[in-house]
Amino acid sequence: MIMVDDKLKVNNDILNNFEKYMEIMKYTDIGTFEWSRNFGITFSENLEQRFGIKGCSFKMFDINKFIFREDAVQFVKFIRKIKNGRTIAQVTCRVREIGEEFIWCKISAFSEFGRGKNIEQMFGIIQIIDKEIKMLNRLKYKTEFDEITNIRNFEKFNIDTAEKFKNNPKGKFAIIVMDIDKFKIINDVYGVETGKTVLRQVAIILQRIFSDNFVFGRRYTDNFCIAMEYSDEAEINNIIDKIIKEISLSKFIINISPVFGVYIVDDKNSNIEVMCDRANIAKKNYNSADKKTYMFYDTDFRKEILAQTALEAEMYNALDNKKFYMYLQPKYDLKNKNIVGAEALVRWNRDKNSFLLPDKFLPLFEKNGFIIKLDEYIWEEACRILRKWIDLEFKPVPISVNVSRRQIFNPNFLDMLLWLTQKYDIPHNLIGLELPEGVFIDNNDTVCGILEKVKKYGFILEMDDFGEGYSSLKMLQNINVDVIKIDKGFLDKAVTKKGKIVLKHTIIMAKELNLRVIAEGVENKEQIDFLMEYGCDTAQGFYFSKPLSVDEFEYKTFYNVKG
Ligand code: C2E
Ligand code: MG
Ligand code: MG
Repeated sequence: MIMVDDKLKVNNDILNNFEKYMEIMKYTDIGTFEWSRNFGITFSENLEQRFGIKGCSFKMFDINKFIFREDAVQFVKFIRKIKNGRTIAQVTCRVREIGEEFIWCKISAFSEFGRGKNIEQMFGIIQIIDKEIKMLNRLKYKTEFDEITNIRNFEKFNIDTAEKFKNNPKGKFAIIVMDIDKFKIINDVYGVETGKTVLRQVAIILQRIFSDNFVFGRRYTDNFCIAMEYSDEAEINNIIDKIIKEISLSKFIINISPVFGVYIVDDKNSNIEVMCDRANIAKKNYNSADKKTYMFYDTDFRKEILAQTALEAEMYNALDNKKFYMYLQPKYDLKNKNIVGAEALVRWNRDKNSFLLPDKFLPLFEKNGFIIKLDEYIWEEACRILRKWIDLEFKPVPISVNVSRRQIFNPNFLDMLLWLTQKYDIPHNLIGLELPEGVFIDNNDTVCGILEKVKKYGFILEMDDFGEGYSSLKMLQNINVDVIKIDKGFLDKAVTKKGKIVLKHTIIMAKELNLRVIAEGVENKEQIDFLMEYGCDTAQGFYFSKPLSVDEFEYKTFYNVKG
């Protein structure tokens, strides 16, 4: 049986122990609080100091003042749970510290009820877990956000996009991917650090432009991806235009131009990575010559890609099996109407009875580089046929071959020409080289250097498609070509008075510069008449003849069959 003295001793022991616990708490991140109907709320000393709260002045659950706005809902639920009682209520939320900063705390409380429904007492613990939570957040951030740009990485983009699709099953969505044109060159020429700065600047622009309706992130290197909800396709164009505008207005460390590909999401359940791939494929088909900054991936596009893939799969075999044919289109002397040359034009005998024209496969071969092989094949065909003509003692006419842009940067360009002409023993002045006019504009110095060398060997240099795009008469001063080929488009424009004047003076000036002038794409008598009047020497076009098989050409040229 416990005596009164013993009881006092026990109480004193408990009190002493409690004070000891309080003393320890001063040095920890754990504090206690207690509330009773009669005495109100009291906090342990460490909480009072940390949060600047005194029990007597503290209004219980002063949410706006103490709890971080975004955590308020959680906190209200916590209070509700306390009021319902009979179980431990817990919440993790940010609480305002004395210096106005919010810190993460875990609050646990238990309430006791009296006889009625009212709480009589409540006991609780506040654990300050700010460091732990921040560390966790940092780790989480690292797994979700891109280290260089601080925007979503691709995994997080995937998760958030899927979530967006799920939340809006009826919504229309598009995936846009964006690359920086020639980013590899930026890295290579200006260094990786400059490359990273560019990426950061792009990310800042995206952050500035995009609201919550968009999910965006960096996929890899300079590949950014955006998922957007839209109601009208014009919105997609507008957003792309906006990015382009912002980038062009921003002061970038170096000038950059973005390139876009768009995929319209038709099945939200399909793989998001595949959607990005499709947008990427669309982007890859972007061609700066189109002057379009973005491409859509759609069913037609898919068909086109499949068709191109099929052509790519066949091209090597086609070359080995001699499915590419050299056609020859005669060039006529306008005075005596004799055939004075020929242009070699490739045809692909893909199916038994039909020939594919160059516009169906050459753009692809330009892109994948196969054009180099094909050109060389046609050059060899030209040399082979010339050798045959010489051996048969026909009076050979020069054959002009087309030279793709790619050849200009091919270090073997000249060697290949020399090797072929030597192999078939062909005088160089029987080979004309038709170079697209654009080549002269883009790379003036390089091109001039190479062409000087080629010219020294006596090949005939021809500027193809003169007047198609950028050519200026001034350009003719600097470039040492023998012939200019007036483009069909230029000729077609010469139906108006002004067009005629421009054409006339172009021909006169070219002649004064000692250049020969060939008009191509000549289709009617009227054109012939004014070309002759203005002093143009030679013409090529359907008016005289379509491109012919070698047999047809020989028949027409060497057996002198006109018409
Ligand atoms: P190009 O060098 O300007 O060739 C002239 C094109 O105009 C040819 O088209 C020819 O068939 C067409 N043409 C000729 N006369 C007329 C005419 O009176 N009216 C019309 N409407 N067209 C006419 P083709 O054969 O389809 O070749 C297109 C382009 O493909 C060529 O333009 C050339 O740039 C390129 N090309 C053709 N063969 C080769 C090749 O072996 N290598 C390279 N790199 N390019 C080639
Ligand atoms: Mg040509
Ligand atoms: Mg041409």
